[in-house]
Amino acid sequence: MQTKQQPSSNAGRRAFIRGLLATTAFTGLADAIPPVDVLKDGVLQDGVPQGAKAARIPKAPPSLGKREKFLLPYANFRELQLGSVRPEGWLRSELVKQANGFSGHQPDFCFPFDRHYWAGNERGQDQESRNGGIFWYPWEQMGYWTDGAYRCAKLIDDDRLRRRALDPIRYTVEHPVDGWFLGPRRLLALPAAPTEEDPGRWPQAVFFRALAAAAEGENTPDILTAMSHHYLNDTKCDYQHGPYGPRDRVNIESLLWCYGHSGDQRLLDMAKKIWSGVPSSDLEDLIADHPSEMHGVTFAEVSKLAALLYMYTGNTRQRDMSVAAMRRISKYHMLCDGTPSTTEELRGTTALDGHETCDIVEFNISWSYLLMATGSGAYGDLIERGLFNAGMGAVRKDWSGFQYISCPNQVHVARNSCQPTHQGTAAALYGPNSDHRPEYPFVTACCAGNIARMLPLYVQRMWMKSPGDGLAAVLYGPSRINAAVGKAKREVEIVEETSYPFSERIAFRIRAEQPVEFPLHLRVPAWCRSPKLRVNGKSLDFPGVENGFSVLHRTHRNGDFIEVDFPMEIAIGRSSDGGMFVERGPLVYSLQPKEIWTSSAIPEMEITSPQFPMWAATAGSPWNYALSIDKSAHLKDQIKVDDSAAISADPWNRSPISMRVPARRLPGWNLIRAKGDDANWFKTPPLPARDCSLGPEETITLVPLGTTHLRLTVFPFFTGAPPKSS
Ligand SMILES: [Zn+2]
Repeated sequence: MQTKQQPSSNAGRRAFIRGLLATTAFTGLADAIPPVDVLKDGVLQDGVPQGAKAARIPKAPPSLGKREKFLLPYANFRELQLGSVRPEGWLRSELVKQANGFSGHQPDFCFPFDRHYWAGNERGQDQESRNGGIFWYPWEQMGYWTDGAYRCAKLIDDDRLRRRALDPIRYTVEHPVDGWFLGPRRLLALPAAPTEEDPGRWPQAVFFRALAAAAEGENTPDILTAMSHHYLNDTKCDYQHGPYGPRDRVNIESLLWCYGHSGDQRLLDMAKKIWSGVPSSDLEDLIADHPSEMHGVTFAEVSKLAALLYMYTGNTRQRDMSVAAMRRISKYHMLCDGTPSTTEELRGTTALDGHETCDIVEFNISWSYLLMATGSGAYGDLIERGLFNAGMGAVRKDWSGFQYISCPNQVHVARNSCQPTHQGTAAALYGPNSDHRPEYPFVTACCAGNIARMLPLYVQRMWMKSPGDGLAAVLYGPSRINAAVGKAKREVEIVEETSYPFSERIAFRIRAEQPVEFPLHLRVPAWCRSPKLRVNGKSLDFPGVENGFSVLHRTHRNGDFIEVDFPMEIAIGRSSDGGMFVERGPLVYSLQPKEIWTSSAIPEMEITSPQFPMWAATAGSPWNYALSIDKSAHLKDQIKVDDSAAISADPWNRSPISMRVPARRLPGWNLIRAKGDDANWFKTPPLPARDCSLGPEETITLVPLGTTHLRLTVFPFFTGAPPKSS
């Protein structure tokens, strides 16, 4: 966006910038010079000099229904309507890659996204689940895809993808079965004796989030009305149905969304009634103080519901139940990359554990609800760690593929290489869909739809409404927020200029038509011990941190420039089997061996295309190292961070940050050969025994986990003198 004063020629622009910089220096604002990513090719992209006459700024989208009155009354932070927060910088370019990558192209070739689930095709649905598989999987996966694809399209104004995602949404809303039921007739009937074939209302729990997204994004009350009508007529279902009873209850999320936008008390009552029908043994099973064996997605989906209810009832026992459930996850199941160990079921925390990609998405979304309910910045720390490490580590950096199961340690990615459970499957390959699970002879298509929601939901919840008609920056990254704030509800735009998490510096540029007083909540990550603050170039004491947030109470004026620094320090973490990993700020670091890629098609599964094959990678350089860290010396004297590289528009593909670490090779620590000599059967090994031989000390380079595909993140850790030296 250009301001009116800007001359049209490049030379003219450069002169204008020089003039602007001179002005800022003259007024004592030398430190307020825009950061590198604002000045591209010497052209000012969107700067506004402090105190300048305000240009007209875009308004926040008009509120859907009665949102302002009824949405999340007991929340600490309230979610903003889709479209209020816009991605910038690397966040925008990753979403564009997603739209141009598998998320935008799965409908062209990839089962089940190339069919018409939720868009009218009920014919032959049994045949469309491969080899007589469970018939409702495609409805679930298409529900995930529609939600993620619509939000992605809306955030980057991709009209083609938006129209594709609206197809199943519009069809479902405009063709209710029996005048009210949203979905195929086959899902309407609830058998008296349910089997695994009977999903209850779980497909609706998934798909209705897409309906809510479209209602917000298109600002169309008819979708809200259709959803409310569906629930209020669904009197024969108790939402505790059959083997998927816990998943049935997830409809509470959309019921509360409907209440929050309509104010229809019957919807809130229905949500409360469903929750009151949950057996107490199920609730105790969420918060017990020992490792859980529950399915990971079920745990993530169900444990958030009590916190969601709290935001409408004010019953703190409900909020505290969700908090206890998530504390249990952190205590017993958390992996170093920020996502719980969940290879379908919750698992242990050794160097070989990993996660289903659905769990990367679902735990982050559940934590965002707990952040709203509790106002605790700790959930922001969790969400960033999960996205920047596990999340970005599970996708190919051109978004041509993702992994169904991914791990902090994966030094060989091939067919049959998956090390935690799922042996003998293609679960570790990067591709546009997962092919199958071992117990099922058909395509399950797991995670391929759900991963579409990962970045869009992050962007939408980076900014939230805070108490006192303010705004809260709860998750960081390049973005732009438009909202009406302060008692006078004045429109402001805040442009968040940063390359975070590749930079410690985050700047907020305020645009306002008139000065406006409102509180600005800033999350202070728990890993940061000495945050710094400058306002219009002047250093200020950082306000006190409470519950993970600082609050700036001030009158904000057009052109105000608020800068925070969150200095990142190196730290060492430990895995349950004695390994060690290196982290700095929100990023965990890995050794990335040279990746040698080969592709293959699986035409019989109808999930690949020539443009989107399955990808395997083998290591073309050594990975078998132990870190050689002296515990008695300062880490900063042993590990050297290099952040001198310029930050590109594609930092996840080529990291601008690396670190040099002393290490020793373990020549006897090699891939496991499960069967034959075929590369497909080699696997990443567990940590080696303590008595294996160590090579001489050398220096290795670590890069952020999220920028890698092959990686060693959890290293062997030998205290004291090595047992044997070669
Ligand atoms: Zn999945």
